[in-house]
Amino acid sequence: MQVPFIDLKRAYARYGQEIEEAVLRVLRSTKYINGPETRELEKELATFMGVNHGIAVSSGTEALYLILKALDLPQKSIAFVPSFTFVSTAEVVLRAGLIPFFVDVEEDYPNLSVEALKEAYELCLKRGYQPGCVIAVSLYGYPARLTELLAFCQERNLILIEDACQAFGSELEDKKVGSFGVAGAVSFYPTKNLSAAGDAGMVFTNDENLALKIRALKEHGQTKPYFYEYHGLNGRMDEVQAAILRVKFKYFNEELTLRERWAKFYEKNLSQLNPKVKLFKHLPNSKPALSLFTIRATQRNELQQYLEKMHIATNVYYRIPLHHQPIFKDKLSLSLSLPNTERLSQEVLSLPFFPYLEEEEVLKVCKAIEEFYANC
Ligand SMILES: *Cc1c(COP(=O)(O)O)cnc(C)c1O
Repeated sequence: MQVPFIDLKRAYARYGQEIEEAVLRVLRSTKYINGPETRELEKELATFMGVNHGIAVSSGTEALYLILKALDLPQKSIAFVPSFTFVSTAEVVLRAGLIPFFVDVEEDYPNLSVEALKEAYELCLKRGYQPGCVIAVSLYGYPARLTELLAFCQERNLILIEDACQAFGSELEDKKVGSFGVAGAVSFYPTKNLSAAGDAGMVFTNDENLALKIRALKEHGQTKPYFYEYHGLNGRMDEVQAAILRVKFKYFNEELTLRERWAKFYEKNLSQLNPKVKLFKHLPNSKPALSLFTIRATQRNELQQYLEKMHIATNVYYRIPLHHQPIFKDKLSLSLSLPNTERLSQEVLSLPFFPYLEEEEVLKVCKAIEEFYANC
């Protein structure tokens, strides 16, 4: 038996026909851009998030970039970002003319350490740089310490932006991840919690002026027909993706329940392997909507090879942290050592995880991990 990492075919088998009908409806309508599907999706998802504005865009990356672009922070001001994340989080910082300052994550939690952020902020001031914003990532779906980060930012006049690309549906203190900062970016990339059949994303915010500006920016900076007030770009979501997302959103809560079920199942079965296998803690009052189920494993690479031999697909997010990536070389005016990031990048392993797993598959994964450590 092969255990796939993510098998999108199983979701498609469940509601593919409904998706096909929705796509056909859009095709026949010939309304392909800025139509009713996109408008309805924005309303439905903003309501779900508990915010006033949802702005449909072409990807999670563009969502993040548009937030930075609309905020118009002074050039060369500092954006505090984790290094233990997908490249987009910091790529957009360079694109917006800001300087990334990579901050460490916690020892046993894959998100920004507030302590490390404090240290970074003080170094930034000492060296005469202008602090601008913090981009908090809720990696794998585990909520960042958003309440503390928001308080930290408010005390220092910093702007909190959320990269909630992997955390659509996650909650902290009964509030949705992505709704704590001035704005949050979500991705609907095919393997994310809510996923399109291509690229798509959304910006969520309560700030009306920011929402208006982002709406203009994603349409070439247009504020009136054929009148360009800002230097924008083409960052729209198309109607076909919006229609697909609306179908899938109907099943979203059910799928979250399934994700929770498999996460608990893994946690229950793997907790006995501590300290060879360590699980990420949960923040109090948090309800993570996990997009990836990730363990910290001793002999990670050997375990991954063993699982591959057993026909179990796994992945490493992320093997090379961003502060070691060539694109950020020479761009780091400020840096601190990132011991937790370095260690996690050696330890993390993401296991097969998606709503439509079968119990025997999850059991097979757990048994194989147990066997690996029993024999090594
Ligand atoms: C997926 C992802 C993005 C980018 O989203 P795209 O839709 O692929 O552009 C940004 N940040 C994180 C943490 C992600 O996982």
